[in-house]
Amino acid sequence: MITTTCAVCETDAADQEVYADTLPHDAATSARFSARRTPDRVHYRMVRCGNCGLLRSNPILSDEELASLYRESTLTYEDEATFARRTYGNYLRQCISSLPAGIEPRQARLLEIGCGNGFFLDQALQSGFGDVAGVEPSLDAVALAPDSVRHKIVTDIFRDGLFPANHFDIVCAFQVFDHLAHPNEVLQSCRKVLKPGGLALFINHDVGAWTNRMLGSRSPVIDIEHIYLFDTSTMAKIFRKNGFEVLNVFPVENSYPLYYWAKMAPLPKNWKEKMIPALKKTSLGRVELAWKAGNLGLVARIGGA
Ligand SMILES: [Zn+2]
Repeated sequence: MITTTCAVCETDAADQEVYADTLPHDAATSARFSARRTPDRVHYRMVRCGNCGLLRSNPILSDEELASLYRESTLTYEDEATFARRTYGNYLRQCISSLPAGIEPRQARLLEIGCGNGFFLDQALQSGFGDVAGVEPSLDAVALAPDSVRHKIVTDIFRDGLFPANHFDIVCAFQVFDHLAHPNEVLQSCRKVLKPGGLALFINHDVGAWTNRMLGSRSPVIDIEHIYLFDTSTMAKIFRKNGFEVLNVFPVENSYPLYYWAKMAPLPKNWKEKMIPALKKTSLGRVELAWKAGNLGLVARIGGA
């Protein structure tokens, strides 16, 4: 296991233990590192930085082990992607007016980090974005990408050198940032590939949302896949630390069918295994509910436009 330090303060001197780890012997399986799997309350030891309030896992698996787990992870989100696609598409449209001066979507280049099977890249093309690119470590996810975008996805972990510098108008990351062991390095790599005035649109868990605070260690965000868990304050801090101007941090409204909310809720596993497939077949289970359920969004810009 590897020890971590606060990504904002770069020290572990102010650490306070919040939760002891719940790791079983077989904690590190690729199924457990698959996107949007049913939460199982397996997590690392969690600490909070007393300086800035950032919550993080410590210690964690090595970079090599994490890279291998994500490479072998499988796609489990199937039809939920339909709903996520619409949510992310709405927030992308709200960013258009903040694109670098004079750039219209059809001239804009968009990069998505951790694009899974490319469902959002396809949405961005349909929303009129001229050029899209993605990067995704899961071989299984990329193999399932639609023809419209598969050739635009690099199968790798996002890092320096994969894309030209000074190239993109907007970089997006959805439910990715809290999975990263080196968030500062990733933000610096984002800065390099963005043009002056380029935007970042990130959506991830908000550990400060009332839902997550109320559930404590039972919250699905307290999970082995998450290394740093941000709230609106620590999210803004880490972007500013890396030279971004934060334009907006906001609660995200997600719209999902009732059966999906039930899947993510802290309900007994036996109940979920029996009830969710049944619920999915009923019209009640497929009723869509929009809710600010504990995700945050951030829009930030790099200087120089
Ligand atoms: Zn800190």
